[in-house]
Amino acid sequence: MSEVTVKQLAEDVGIPVELLLSQLSEAGLKQNQADDAISDEEKLKLLSHLRQSHGKSTESGDSPKKITLKRKTVSELKQPGTITRSPGGRTGATRSAGKTVSVEVRRKRTYVKRSEVSDDEARTQEAEAARKALEEQAEQKRQIEAETEARRSAEEQRRHAEEAAKLQEEEERKRKELEEQQRQEEEEQRRQEEEARKREETQRKQVGEKEEKKDLEEELREARLKEEAQRIAEEKAGKKGAHRKDERPKEKGKGARGKEKEQLHVAESKRGRRGKGKAAKQHKPVIQPQGDAQHGFVKPTTPVVHEVEIGENITVGDLAQKMSIKAAVVIKELMKMGMMVTINQPLDHDTAVLVVEEMGHKAVTQKEEDIEAEVMSTLDEEQGEKVSRAPVVTIMGHVDHGKTSLLDHIRETRVAAGEAGGITQHIGAYHVETGHGMISFLDTPGHAAFSAMRARGAKATDIVVLVVAADDGVKPQTIEAIQHSRAADVPIIIAVNKIDKPEAQPDRVMQELSQQDIIPEEWGGDTQFVQVSAKTGQGIDELLDSILLQSEVLELTAVKDGPARGIIVESSLDKGRGPVATILVQSGTLRRGDMVVSGQEIGRVRAMLDENRQQVNSAGPSIPVEVLGLSGVPNAGDDVVVVSDERKARELAESRQEKNRDSRLAAQKAAKLDEFFSQMSEGEVNYVNLIVKADVQGSVEALKESLVKITTEEVKVKIVATGAGGINESDVNLAMTSNAIIIGFNVRADATARRAAEDQGVDIRYYSIIYEIIDDVKKAISGMLTPEVREEFIGLAEVRDVFRSSKLGAIAGCMVIEGTVKRSNPIRVLRDNVVIYEGELESLRRHKDDVNEVKSGTECGIGVKNYNDVKVGDQIEVFERTEVAREVL
Ligand code: GDP
Repeated sequence: MSEVTVKQLAEDVGIPVELLLSQLSEAGLKQNQADDAISDEEKLKLLSHLRQSHGKSTESGDSPKKITLKRKTVSELKQPGTITRSPGGRTGATRSAGKTVSVEVRRKRTYVKRSEVSDDEARTQEAEAARKALEEQAEQKRQIEAETEARRSAEEQRRHAEEAAKLQEEEERKRKELEEQQRQEEEEQRRQEEEARKREETQRKQVGEKEEKKDLEEELREARLKEEAQRIAEEKAGKKGAHRKDERPKEKGKGARGKEKEQLHVAESKRGRRGKGKAAKQHKPVIQPQGDAQHGFVKPTTPVVHEVEIGENITVGDLAQKMSIKAAVVIKELMKMGMMVTINQPLDHDTAVLVVEEMGHKAVTQKEEDIEAEVMSTLDEEQGEKVSRAPVVTIMGHVDHGKTSLLDHIRETRVAAGEAGGITQHIGAYHVETGHGMISFLDTPGHAAFSAMRARGAKATDIVVLVVAADDGVKPQTIEAIQHSRAADVPIIIAVNKIDKPEAQPDRVMQELSQQDIIPEEWGGDTQFVQVSAKTGQGIDELLDSILLQSEVLELTAVKDGPARGIIVESSLDKGRGPVATILVQSGTLRRGDMVVSGQEIGRVRAMLDENRQQVNSAGPSIPVEVLGLSGVPNAGDDVVVVSDERKARELAESRQEKNRDSRLAAQKAAKLDEFFSQMSEGEVNYVNLIVKADVQGSVEALKESLVKITTEEVKVKIVATGAGGINESDVNLAMTSNAIIIGFNVRADATARRAAEDQGVDIRYYSIIYEIIDDVKKAISGMLTPEVREEFIGLAEVRDVFRSSKLGAIAGCMVIEGTVKRSNPIRVLRDNVVIYEGELESLRRHKDDVNEVKSGTECGIGVKNYNDVKVGDQIEVFERTEVAREVL
């Protein structure tokens, strides 16, 4: 252990080799190569040089001659019959007979530079002489002396060295990470201690017991003389050695009293008296601490077992902190397990538990819902008595069967619209008063909202009204609606619509529905059928009555008093008003000024509006209201709770954000085609899950067939779902739950689907050539997929009007709804999110002027080259082909 190379030392200390070499040369040492060896003495020399230079820099050019330090330490000593003390009479000496003793040491030390002491040669000589006389007895003491001295010096040196090293390495260290720094310090400490100890030993051997401090020498001499005299007296009295030993603490006490500068408080036993270090030197300890090379006492080393709380995810840094260890240690442990991680990387629960147990601590699963549960339980406590409430109804059905007409009819005739001048605005939900009671309708277009809410585990609807046109019968979306309702366990009422039409065949509807296991009451089933006409209003009263009847059967109740809980029905970002959310209150009462948490958003209810845009001050169960004041736009289906304590509200929102972020990180990793290969696990069959959407069913079939064929021995291509038409939110939800990639062939995702995909990190890929799809999937499987040319979507315009010009052909009067439309870029024309044309922009105009680009929110005229079939409602997508640099792997 005596010689190391410069390189090794630099590594140990954690500084660059160059720096160490320059320090060595400054210290006048010969080493100038990384492989040169350094002996302990040389290290010592370097150390003293460093100390010196440190002293200069801090003490205005003059190194300190004297340093006085005060400190208090509390420790436990556990050493059977061992003497532990420090020489020089500064530290307390105590002797325990195999017991654990709590020791509090208050010390004040004055360190004097060696040069100051050397003047006192003469006294030192005296001391030498005195000691020589006692040499026989002191022989073994000296060893302990050396060790305890080493310990003390090590402390002193460590302090110095730490300071010196810190200053020296400040610049390097700044660049290093925290754990790197901690590790360095730790190693530095160890090294210094080791070195110091060695130095002391060497010194002892070479110089003998030359003392360093003059006051120390005085004390020592006095004490020794006294003790010697006493010993002789004792010997004369015929006392045995062993006996003497027992008496020692007493003697020591005697010899030491008087010039005490420190106090040693011994908690358990009074036997270990205060004493002067050297004074006790003559007395042999019962057992020499030879086993332990460093210390004459045992540090309290019982491992502390921490209970480490681990949630779903925890970062490496947090985990280390919870175990009270350095992050570097955790990183090292993970490396051993074959994981390369950074300090901020979140670990999943299982990995974290493994690490914790590996480190000898105890892992406890943290109750994830802590703050969640806390808030909810306080909410529950505050809830009062339950009262009956109005039913919440969702209208579903096939397109064009009359959902909107029915809702409109009900709203126009039942909602008191007078105050608002008859203008009712779409807020996604409204309530109506009937002669028999109140009903709330959720007016969310399509079934997507219903399924999205269900996907989030929210149940907003009590009753589904399924509209079936009497002249059209059961259609695919009718069946879909039935499946959705059944899955959500919501009762269905059938509204057989368009009964006014002469070709209406209500019986046929009943028959077709019974094939779906929807049996009318008249046929002995349990489903109410009501024949209505949204056009004439026929049967609508009966429909409302049926709803109320069903609601009575359901015995719907809710607590009316207390803080509100509800659900987001719809939300949007309004330019003037900020985030706007339609909240359906489900229990309690929502009031203006309430602090609400919705999903990850938070806010105070600034204003509440009813379906007529009238300000309201409170909303009870089953009442929908539009709320302003949230921090952001929550998702439809998110819950809403009123939390009176603002701090708790914030905590709740933050904890949800954190959870969302972490799980999103994990989710994002799972569903990217580019990353598929790197995530394949060896020796298993891996699946590429795909959802294929195409413009027509024919393409779907063709794609399905060729994609499935790609399957190899290790990788199977699994088609999770297929369909003709644009990519909608359901597809994205499905992709998320089934870990699939969405392939869009000549189709696009609609706005909500795009947003959902972005939120959830679902990979949607658009193609217009079948071969490219096959090629990409093949490459992904073999790990060859590198994004080279990517299409980047830059703008989207919606056709609002079409003008015919004899010169230019059809000109689409558009509103740019996303991004920027640029003249020089390729475009696609989309109808219902299906690509119907791909080409170029012929002209781009704003008013009468030709322009190069038009930004979102402005109108423009677009002429598409060689294409005249643009229709109102079409979308024009502008994109760019960009080269993406190959990533070097
Ligand atoms: P949705 O797609 O289900 O919302 O259906 P709409 O409410 O938009 O209705 C589609 C078409 O059917 C519209 O042209 C309506 O005027 C018509 N319609 C709806 N209900 C009735 C009805 O009861 N009788 C008749 N004759 N036409 C209706």
